[in-house]
Amino acid sequence: MTSVTVLVPAKVNLQLAVGAVRPDGYHELVSVFHAVSLFDEVTVRPADRLTVTVEGEGEGVVPLDRSNLAVRAVELLADRLGQRPDVHVHLRKGIPVAGGMAGGSADAAAALLACDTLWRGATPREMLRRLGAELGSDVPFSDLGGTAIGTGRGERLAAVPSVGRFHWVFALADGGLSTPAVYGECDRLREVAGEPVPVPAPREELVAALRAGDAAALGAAMSNDLQPAALSLRPALRDTLDAGRAAGALGALVSGSGPTCAFLAADEAAAKTVAVALEESGTCRTTRVAYGPVGGAKVVPTPRLRTNESTPGVG
Ligand code: ATP
Repeated sequence: MTSVTVLVPAKVNLQLAVGAVRPDGYHELVSVFHAVSLFDEVTVRPADRLTVTVEGEGEGVVPLDRSNLAVRAVELLADRLGQRPDVHVHLRKGIPVAGGMAGGSADAAAALLACDTLWRGATPREMLRRLGAELGSDVPFSDLGGTAIGTGRGERLAAVPSVGRFHWVFALADGGLSTPAVYGECDRLREVAGEPVPVPAPREELVAALRAGDAAALGAAMSNDLQPAALSLRPALRDTLDAGRAAGALGALVSGSGPTCAFLAADEAAAKTVAVALEESGTCRTTRVAYGPVGGAKVVPTPRLRTNESTPGVG
């Protein structure tokens, strides 16, 4: 086998309920993950040593050293399989970086599956997801895809049945937001408010809306406990959310830790209308129209080699 390519989706949190900080430092979470049709493509091929290149979203920003989650995934799997991690990893990124859409986690999930396929590890998917959870809470969902409720620190998953296809617009912002900084701001705001921290639980209306394929009900039921913190750190996102709502979005919220904003639309045509209005409003860098749910990480036929794959980054 000369190379393996894996396609992996972004996620949006339809609900993100954030509870108390646990003794291990993570927050207790209930997260309703939903995989959407914005993809990263991760290609691995044998090489003299572990190297990585990046193309697309975040080119020049995404780290090329061992802080890259895909690199850490390769090293983790190699260690478990008793294999040398000598591969070149090429990331073609369509998922916004540091945008609250789990791009790094997606690349880690994809790198695990791609290397396991390249090395003929035959590791069960459930085991790959458990390995992924060691790298980050969102990694197992990137492998699973669809719509799922995550509990614990978000890594224990139960699939949620849903009907039909939901249409989304994502407003991408300039620059990212640091996930730990947003959680820190959430804790700070809660301390200032002095209210008891709620025990996170999935919203019944949300699960019912998914089961019924009811976009209007889903739009009304979506929520994100990190949104006040993201808006506190980036107040201009309020204008983005308002612009999408004014253009007819059924629901609008900050995606995960932000700063990407997610808008649910009634159908594909409505999504295009919302996207145009957002771009004209000048409240975001650009928009992407997508749909969900889509499946998780999957091996695809290897694309033709691209010219800028030739400059390795990691030693
Ligand atoms: P999440 O939604 O899981 O909190 P995010 O979408 O906000 O994550 P990522 O795109 O995963 O954020 O990037 C967060 C940071 O992780 C980036 O600023 C970057 O420095 C680092 N990073 C490490 N590996 C990757 C990768 N493969 N792709 C993108 N960023 C990566």
